[in-house]
Amino acid sequence: MPKILIVGGGYAGFYTAWKLEKHLRKGEAEVTVVDPLPYMTYQPFLPEVAAGSIEARHSVVALRRHLSKTKVVAGKVTGISHADKTATITPSVGDPYQVRYDQIVVTAGAVSRTFPIPGIADNAIGLKTIEEAVAIRDRLTANFDKAALVPAGPERDRLLTVVVVGGGFAGIEVFAELRSYASALLKNYPELRFEDTHFHLVEAMGRIMPEVSLKTSEWVLKNLAERGAAVHLDTQVTGAIDGNIELSTGETIPSDLIIWTAGVMANPTVVRGGDLPVEERGRIRARADLRVGTAEAPLEGAWAAGDVAAVPDLSGGGVGGYCVPNAQHAVRQAKLLAKNLVAVLRGEEPKEYVHKNLGAVAGLGIGIGVFQSGKIAIKGLPAWFAHRGYHGLAMPSWERKFRVLWGWWNNFWLGRDIVNLSTVQNPRYVFEEFAARPRPAQPAVTPPAEPREQGKIADQPEKVDAEKAAAAGR
Ligand SMILES: Cc1cc2nc3c(=O)[nH]c(=O)nc-3n(C[C@H](O)[C@H](O)[C@H](O)COP(=O)(O)OP(=O)(O)OC[C@H]3O[C@@H](n4cnc5c(N)ncnc54)[C@H](O)[C@@H]3O)c2cc1C
Repeated sequence: MPKILIVGGGYAGFYTAWKLEKHLRKGEAEVTVVDPLPYMTYQPFLPEVAAGSIEARHSVVALRRHLSKTKVVAGKVTGISHADKTATITPSVGDPYQVRYDQIVVTAGAVSRTFPIPGIADNAIGLKTIEEAVAIRDRLTANFDKAALVPAGPERDRLLTVVVVGGGFAGIEVFAELRSYASALLKNYPELRFEDTHFHLVEAMGRIMPEVSLKTSEWVLKNLAERGAAVHLDTQVTGAIDGNIELSTGETIPSDLIIWTAGVMANPTVVRGGDLPVEERGRIRARADLRVGTAEAPLEGAWAAGDVAAVPDLSGGGVGGYCVPNAQHAVRQAKLLAKNLVAVLRGEEPKEYVHKNLGAVAGLGIGIGVFQSGKIAIKGLPAWFAHRGYHGLAMPSWERKFRVLWGWWNNFWLGRDIVNLSTVQNPRYVFEEFAARPRPAQPAVTPPAEPREQGKIADQPEKVDAEKAAAAGR
C-alpha cells in the first residue's frame, strides 16, 4: 500500500487528510499526518479568541476526532530527503527516527517573520497560535486587575497600553477586537476610565489592510480613531527594550502588551531541513497542479500547499504571480491536492489550481466589520454579520461550528467572560503553598551513657527518641 506522509495538520494538512479519507478506496493508501500539535487551528478566529468572544478550545479542531482513518503522529518533521523518500520525525517524546514514504505532502504553514529589532524577541508576542491568543486575552485582562490597584500615572498607563505592530488583516483585526474588549471591560472596573486605556498600531507603510480598497481602509482608520485607537502610518518600530516601544518618529510608548503581526515566512524548519526546491522568498516551489517542482518538471511523489508553498496564481491575481498566504487558498488547494494525489495514484492526470479571490471580510470588534469583494464594500454592522456568518460556516465540521455559534449566542445574552486565567502558567501555586512536606530527618540522638544497674528505666529514653524520629519521618 502506498504511504502518504502529510507534514503539518493545519489548514492545508487537515483538509488534505480529510478529503483523502473521502476519496481513497479502502486499502488504496495509508495516510499519516505529523504535527507537533494535536489540533488544526482556525487562525481567522485568533483575534476573537484574544478578545474573549470565542473560547480557545472551540477554535481548534482535534485531529484524532475528525481524522478517523488517518494515522496521527505528535511530532515535528525535521528533515526531508526526497532523493531517497525518507523523512525524519522528531516526536514529542523519544528520539528522532526516519520513515519512508511514497508521497509527501508538505503543508507546514508559516511562522511570524520578525526583524532584528532590539527587545522584540524578548518582549513581543505573535498571533499565529491559539496559545498566543489565550495569553493576549489573559494579559490584557490581568492588566486591568493590576491597573485598578495603582493610581493614575505612568504605571497604570503602561499596564493599559496595547501596541500592535503591523497593519495587515491580522494586525488590524486583533487591534480592533482588543479595543472593543477593553471598552467592554471598563464597566466592570469602576476604578478605571476610558482615557486610561491606550491603543497604538504601528504600520511601516502609508496605509493599512492592502487586501481592501484604499477607501475602505480609510474608513477603518476613521472608525478606529473614533474608538480611541491611534494608528501610526509610515512609522517603524526601532526598539522595544524593557517594553518601551521606540518609534522611528522619536516617540516612545511604554507598554506591557506588544503584539507582532508584521508578516509571516514559510516554516524554516521544514523548508531548510529538506532537499525540496525552494524559491527566492523561501517557500517550497510548487506547480499549479500542487506538485512540487517547476512548470516543466514535476518532482515525482512530492506535493505542497498553503503558506509554506509558492503556488502560481493562474487567476491573474496574487503577489508576484503567486497565491497570497491565506486560508481561502490553503483550503481550496488542499481539496484539489487530495483529488490530484488520488488521480496520480490511479494513473490519471492532475488538474491545475485556479481560484479567483472571493474578497476579504474582517471583524473589528462587536458589531463592527468590513467586507470587500472587487468594488463592493460593506462596512459596520452588516459586514460584522457577514464576517460571523462566513467564518461560522467555514469552520470545519458541524461539531466545531456548533460550539462556536453556541458560544456567540451565549455571549450575546450573557456578555463575554472577563476572567483571566493567567495563573494557568503556574497551576500548582495553591497546591504547593499548602502541600504538606516531609520534615527533614532528625539526627539520631545518642543518649549519654548511664549506669546500667536500673536497666529497665535507662532503656526508655532511647525508645522514646526512636519513636519521635519515626513520627517526624512520617
Ligand atoms: C490572526 C490571523 C487571522 C487570519 N485571518 C484570515 C482570514 O480571515 N482569512 C483568510 O483567508 N486567512 C486568514 N489567515 C491566514 C490563514 O490562517 C493561513 O493562511 C492558513 O492558516 C494557512 O494554512 P496552512 O495549512 O498553510 O498553515 P497552518 O494553518 O499554519 O498549519 C501549519 C501546521 O503545520 C504544523 N507544523 C509546523 N511545523 C511543523 C513541522 N516541523 N512538522 C510538522 N508539522 C509542523 C503546525 O503546527 C500547523 O498545525 C489568518 C491568519 C492569522 C494568523
